[in-house]
Amino acid sequence: MADVHSVEIRRRNMSAIRSSNTAPELILRQALFRLGFRYRVHDRKLRGRPDLVLRRYRAVVFVHGCFFHGHECTAFRWPATRERFWRQKIDGNRRRDTETVRVLRSTGWRVLIVWECALRGRSKIGIEETARRSAVWLRSNKSIGLITESRGGMTAHQARRCRGHHPPSTRQTSRPGPQGG
Ligand SMILES: [Zn+2]
Repeated sequence: MADVHSVEIRRRNMSAIRSSNTAPELILRQALFRLGFRYRVHDRKLRGRPDLVLRRYRAVVFVHGCFFHGHECTAFRWPATRERFWRQKIDGNRRRDTETVRVLRSTGWRVLIVWECALRGRSKIGIEETARRSAVWLRSNKSIGLITESRGGMTAHQARRCRGHHPPSTRQTSRPGPQGG
């Protein structure tokens, strides 16, 4: 008897694979190539088998699907069924991704993560903008980079959290306050 979980995974995998030929990863790869970047793909010697490896920039690029990698974005929705199963699976993927980034950075690699929602879905920023930002990041010396959907595409939850970072009052006073010395 087929395990219902594996059937579900297979179905999800198939749709991920089917899309992978027009996929975000391939589109980004081609766009970066046109911009003059040269890279290795899926280098098995590196932790997490990064989608692109640009030695010259000491950089790796991952293009993450928002579902399997559990991106909190407008493209992501917890499945309505077998919620516990999916939570365990996706949380596991997230932990592995975090560990992958940690290991790569500790061995001197810079890591860029491009989320699928930057390239598809209603809040995408599009391939040109994604490639442009990737190029800027590659030429920078930043150790970690994230490219994601446009801010306008934030979920209500994210928007609330984002607003929460601002102090309750942004009123400014010119009084410097008591000096600490
Ligand atoms: Zn996303």
